[in-house]
Amino acid sequence: MASQLLPSTKRLIDGLFHGASSAVARTSLARSITLVESTLARDRFQAELLLDHVLEQRKAMAEGPATATSFRIGIAGPPGAGKSTFIETLGLSLTKKGHKVAVLAIDPSSSVTGGSILGDKTRMTHLANSPDAFVRPSPTRGTLGGVAQHTNEIVLLCEACGYDIVLVESVGLGQSEIIIDDTVDMVMLLVPPAGGDELQGSKKGIMEIADIVVVNKADGELKSAAKHTAVDYAHALQLARRKEPEWKPTVKMCSAREGEGIDGVWNVLTEFRDTMNAAQKIERKRARQSSKWMWNQLHQELMVMAKKNQFVHDEASALAPDLAHGFISPRSAARKLLEDFLAHPKGK
Ligand code: GDP
Repeated sequence: MASQLLPSTKRLIDGLFHGASSAVARTSLARSITLVESTLARDRFQAELLLDHVLEQRKAMAEGPATATSFRIGIAGPPGAGKSTFIETLGLSLTKKGHKVAVLAIDPSSSVTGGSILGDKTRMTHLANSPDAFVRPSPTRGTLGGVAQHTNEIVLLCEACGYDIVLVESVGLGQSEIIIDDTVDMVMLLVPPAGGDELQGSKKGIMEIADIVVVNKADGELKSAAKHTAVDYAHALQLARRKEPEWKPTVKMCSAREGEGIDGVWNVLTEFRDTMNAAQKIERKRARQSSKWMWNQLHQELMVMAKKNQFVHDEASALAPDLAHGFISPRSAARKLLEDFLAHPKGK
């Protein structure tokens, strides 16, 4: 396998293991991420080799039964809740404590617009300038599944590079918030102070995956509204189904702008990590996530192969009129296509 590694990929691997604070490692990490996100066939092969190599190193370094040494935290919440501000404040406080912090984003909007809503926004400038942090603004293309799949791989690259805390921000609403649970160890829902009504309904999905709810902007005039919101969320959480028997989701308040309450939030996060690690739940969750991504990847690749297959294509064209007239059901048409594909997997 090593002989198929291009010298440029080999250099990236060497650079990644240079130590998180070094400029070489950060440049290698940024370039490795670009490689992993690339859709070119040649790059995809090199990306696979790169990831294999990183995982081999990880295996070599693991001793005894695996306990997660890194901590992957997902941060979801409506636009304007203060996610960027919070991540910057938390990230800076963690680097002061000696952690190496990587910040990534899941941004499904990029699949629709082909660009990123974050692209033109300079974010987290203080954190981005810290030698102990790595801020990746956002992926720039791909399908929703693809973007999340890459995020998963990028997390591995960051960890190989020595970042022990990975913060994954879910940008945009809806699916990204659910997908984030397939990517991280713990999910935080960050919300602004608001009236109680909007807790119902629309937030139900995210409430079920939140391990902690943080009410931000608990400062100045917003402080009493924040307290009300915190009480509302505490009630809602009591009604929500528990994700894990070991963990009761909690509500905290903070002001990311003033830096107040951040340590209290961090204490809850580490309590979660310690509790779940002791029960080996983090390793198990990661194993489930990897299995899910593997099947997703296989699904995607099979679909690409099937759609490119000339036999399948010809059969689909032949079936089109009957399908349009309702003389054949989509279900049996799909089965015919599958039979064609399995009979001629390599096409014409
Ligand atoms: P995001 O869209 O969730 O990433 O939110 P931003 O971090 O960009 O913040 C949105 C707005 O809320 C900005 O104007 C911030 O200055 C403001 N903001 C963020 N955190 C706080 C806070 O703790 N208190 C107050 N009062 N405003 C905040």
